[in-house]
Amino acid sequence: MTSTRYRGRFAPSPTGPLHFGSLVTALASYLEAKSQGGQWLIRIEDLDPLREPPEATGQILNSLEAHGLFPDEPVRFQSRRHAAYQAAIERLLRQGDGYRCSCSRKELQAHDGWHPQPCRAGQSDIGQRPYAVRFALGDDACEWWDLLLGPQRQQVVAELDDPVLLRKEGFYAYQLAVVVDDIDQGITDVVRGSDLLDMTAQQQQIYSALGARPPSWLHIPVILNEQGQKLSKQTHAPALDDDRPVDNLYRALQALGQQPPSSLTMASADHLLAWAAEHWQRQAIHLTAR
Ligand code: GLU
Repeated sequence: MTSTRYRGRFAPSPTGPLHFGSLVTALASYLEAKSQGGQWLIRIEDLDPLREPPEATGQILNSLEAHGLFPDEPVRFQSRRHAAYQAAIERLLRQGDGYRCSCSRKELQAHDGWHPQPCRAGQSDIGQRPYAVRFALGDDACEWWDLLLGPQRQQVVAELDDPVLLRKEGFYAYQLAVVVDDIDQGITDVVRGSDLLDMTAQQQQIYSALGARPPSWLHIPVILNEQGQKLSKQTHAPALDDDRPVDNLYRALQALGQQPPSSLTMASADHLLAWAAEHWQRQAIHLTAR
C-alpha cells in the first residue's frame, strides 16, 4: 500500500527519560504510519521548563534512535514555536473564542468551577492581576470515532470545562500547542495513549476555531505497572535500557498484541521494525486497560 498522505507523530513531553509505556506509544504511532506507507514525525513538547529536567530531551531522542525509530523530518521542538502559539492566541481572542481570566483556582473552586467574574464576556476586571487565556468551549455532546475504541461520546460543558491556552506563569499550554502544531505539520492521524482520550472533544473545538479539520484519532491502552498504575515518571517507571533495543521492541510488540516470531529476538532492531510494519494488526491491540 502506498500513500504519501498519512502523516503521524510521536509527541512526548520531556519530563523524564523514555520508559516502556512511552516506547509502546511511540511504536504504535510508528507502525500505524509505516504500515500505511505514511510519514512519521517526532515532536518534543517542551512547553514547561519547570517540569522538564534539561537532560530529558536528549535522553528521549537518543533512546528513540537506539530503538531504530527515526523520523522522516527533522525533530520539532515546541520551545521554538512560541510565535505561532501567540499568533493563534491572538486570533482566538479576536474571534471571541478565547478570553482572559484572572480567577484563582480557589475562586473557581469556591464557585464549583464557574467564574465569579464575567470573564468569558471579556468584562472581568483584570487590573494588574496575572491572567490566563482560556478557550471558550461551546456546550456539546461531542460524538466521534476512535480508530481503535470505536464510537466515542463526550459531554463538553461551556465555561466549566474551558481549557487554559496560556498559563498565568506565561507558559503556553498543551491543549493549544498540540493543536497548533498538528495543524501546522499536516498531521492526519494522531496515535496516543488513552490517558489523553478525554482531551479530544475539547481539541476538536480548538481545531474548528482555528479553521482546520481535525485528524483521525487512535488511543491505545496505557501500560500499567504491577500496582495497576500508569507507567510514568510519577509512578517511578524505570528508564528504558538503550542497550537492549531488540528485547524492548519485542516486548512492546507483545504489549500491543502482536505476535512476533521468537526468532526475531536474534534480529536487529531494524529487522524487527520492518517485520512489525509488514505484519501490523491494529485490531490485535488488547483493549483491557483504558
Ligand atoms: N505531549 C503529550 C504527552 O506526552 C502527548 C501529546 C499528544 O500525543 O497529543 O502526554
